[in-house]
Amino acid sequence: MKDIICQLFEQRFGKEYRIYAAPGRINLIGEHTDYNGGFVFPGAIDKYMMTAIQPNGLDKVRVESVDMKDYCEFGLREEDAPTQQWARYIFGVCREIQKRGFLVKGFDAVMAGRVPLGAGLSSSAALESCFAFALNDLFNEGKIDKFELARIGQSTEHNYVGVICGIMDQFASIFGKEECLMRLDCRSMEFEYFPFKPAGYRLVLVNSKVKHELVDSPYNKRRQSCENVAKVLGVETLRDAEMDDLEKIKGSISEEDFMRARYVIGEKQRVLDVCAALERGDYETVGERMYQTHWGMSRDYEVSCEELDFLNNIAKSCGVTGSRIMGGGFGGCTINLVKEERYEAFVAAVMDQFPKKYNVRPEIIPVVISNGAHREA
Ligand code: ADP
Ligand code: MG
Repeated sequence: MKDIICQLFEQRFGKEYRIYAAPGRINLIGEHTDYNGGFVFPGAIDKYMMTAIQPNGLDKVRVESVDMKDYCEFGLREEDAPTQQWARYIFGVCREIQKRGFLVKGFDAVMAGRVPLGAGLSSSAALESCFAFALNDLFNEGKIDKFELARIGQSTEHNYVGVICGIMDQFASIFGKEECLMRLDCRSMEFEYFPFKPAGYRLVLVNSKVKHELVDSPYNKRRQSCENVAKVLGVETLRDAEMDDLEKIKGSISEEDFMRARYVIGEKQRVLDVCAALERGDYETVGERMYQTHWGMSRDYEVSCEELDFLNNIAKSCGVTGSRIMGGGFGGCTINLVKEERYEAFVAAVMDQFPKKYNVRPEIIPVVISNGAHREA
């Protein structure tokens, strides 16, 4: 990938440039916890967005996207927004940097990525983080702190793409570290690295390629349930609730709200359990909690779907250590922690059984926890 972008950059713009990269991410555990003030537990992966980039002394940006086979030029004022979706991410990053009082001047760039698009690995955050990091380094001597770089990506999604997302994806892409996962407290925004060195195991995603579009805004309903229960408990968010508290009010809330809250409160504890397990290198417990999360998302939170439950069951029957839905639900990927010796059989079972039943070939995406945004050369 590096060779391609270097070659293209030299053909189009010249021999002087720098190279930057920023990764996609996984979230090992901690799903639907962000809006409940809880924890998420992401890590950066070995799939990157990469750019060759150089200031051009002009007042415009010229970018070539290898993957989109497209080229775009735009100015740096608000009214200069490009029409191509992929370029809007870059424009947004430029604008959000400027809005914060930092500098962006014209530049040339060639970019390419290896983060699968729309698979739940956050290719968009990789793209934003790559340019936020590069433009900080090129024009601002690295003065913008890392958290602000993540916020610049998040604001880009909000203001230039129309996706109202949390901070996790950009945070992970910026702060990621080899052999480390990060527990991010979505209330205080404090975070901590935990060792993730699963010797003898592999981490693999199975992209079901299924996405169920739901008509009745299930996310808003889930949020509403969480808020209902928090209110009855007299806490700000379910982060502050324990399972005992929930049991005590069982009679005064709906069965549905009870199930939703049971998932969220359980998930908070599962993240903490996984952190403790990682510190003692206990990957069997990590895997158990992943299965429990899947169960909770499927039965209590009801955000799974037939296809993902099917993948989860294949994992179980193949002796996979841990498996669960990754992301909001209703489709997308499962994330699986698999012992080396079970890996081949698991992949074979998925590729045999899933297409037979659903007529879709899933994609197998092995991942290794890797470094966040950085300069390559
Ligand atoms: P994801 O879950 O992968 O973040 P999104 O829909 O949020 O999915 O972002 C995908 C969009 O990001 C693409 O439609 C494209 O505009 C942009 N993008 C991601 N990767 C690339 C790439 N390699 N080259 C160009 N644009 C990309
Ligand atoms: Mg995205």
